[in-house]
Amino acid sequence: MRILVTGGAGFIGSHLIDRLMTAGHEVICLDNFYTGRKQNVLKWMDHPYFDCIRHDVTEPIRLEVDQIYHLACPASPVHYQYNPVKTIKTNVIGTLNMLGLAKRVKARFLLASTSEIYGDPLVHPQTEDYWGNVNTIGIRSCYDEGKRVAETLSFDYHRQNNVDIRVARIFNTYGPRMLENDGRVVSNFVVQALQGIPLTVYGTGSQTRSFCYVSDLVDGLIRLMNSDYVGPVNLGNPDEYTILELAQAVQTMVNPDAELVYKPLPQDDPQRRQPDITKAKTLLHWSPTVPLQEGLTRTIADFRQRMEETNATATPSVTSA
Ligand code: NAD
Ligand code: UDP
Ligand code: UDP
Repeated sequence: MRILVTGGAGFIGSHLIDRLMTAGHEVICLDNFYTGRKQNVLKWMDHPYFDCIRHDVTEPIRLEVDQIYHLACPASPVHYQYNPVKTIKTNVIGTLNMLGLAKRVKARFLLASTSEIYGDPLVHPQTEDYWGNVNTIGIRSCYDEGKRVAETLSFDYHRQNNVDIRVARIFNTYGPRMLENDGRVVSNFVVQALQGIPLTVYGTGSQTRSFCYVSDLVDGLIRLMNSDYVGPVNLGNPDEYTILELAQAVQTMVNPDAELVYKPLPQDDPQRRQPDITKAKTLLHWSPTVPLQEGLTRTIADFRQRMEETNATATPSVTSA
């Protein structure tokens, strides 16, 4: 199959591309490199079945493909709040363009939606039939409401134009290749612990998240794409931790002497989050397999290696001729 992955040079997209290329598909990576890096897909660059296009999804593009994984959108609050209007354009105009493309070439279209569509949830754990509790005018709204419109557009193209859609609601995912300056909690804590600087806990650290390792998530995306179920389907690891517990886990694993420093809780930061994955389990026969401890070990090893490489190039050793 020829498969388009928008946002393919990003964190999840590049892991997805690895799996699709290894399975023998032809893959087109489309990315504007806002939070993605060519480095993430470098190993496929010379492969005859791989193409990488620098393109912004807010501009139309004509391609011939069988499936579209639509992931293009910054996912970290730091990056999606940097230019909130652009985040809305990416989610609305970008998703419209990719649905228009799917309609024209009759491709199956999978939207990477998010647990953020539940906002600060009043139902716990979150099931797919919960409509959410989202502030329309807050600093997270560009992302939350953007993704909600992206879901609406997907279902309207499905009902109105028979576009074959799949909608995944992805919960907090972590793993190797997250940017060092990504700003999300796992990468922040790991980088801080490795640098020997205090771990920044926002608020009291009593808010919770449920962390899914990236290989599990990618497996869920591929299963959903190739299933008969339209969705929406929650994809995430139901193991729920407070942010303080996460900080302590990273402390224990990297540097037990690392300090914690408390910073203000950002506006509208959801208090609790945990996926109900009954649908994914029963319809996709999917459930996560990598526990937090193991996923963190792999993530820490990846960050350690990258930070050592950066340090090595930043301070070249002086040799005498
Ligand atoms: P990421 O920031 O690493 O990847 C996003 C990619 O999209 C980057 O390569 C970026 O350059 C690209 N991009 C952004 N705007 C674009 C545009 N206008 N045109 C073309 N490319 C553009 O984030 P990620 O964690 O890999 O997330 C991938 C997708 O999964 C996103 O849609 C995100 O909303 C969704 N998601 C992620 C998580 C998570 O925890 N990682 C949770 C829920 C949903
Ligand atoms: N589009 C695209 N590539 C295609 C087909 C459509 O980028 O191969 C864009 C198109 O430019 C439009 C959007 O997708 O902005 C929606 O297309 P659709 O055909 O649904 O709507 P229309 O073009 O009739 O407004
Ligand atoms: N967080 C934190 N320290 C950090 C970064 C984030 O305590 O350095 C908190 C943040 O306030 C939130 C949780 O960790 O409660 C998850 O934040 P992230 O940005 O990773 O994802 P999201 O809030 O979008 O789920």
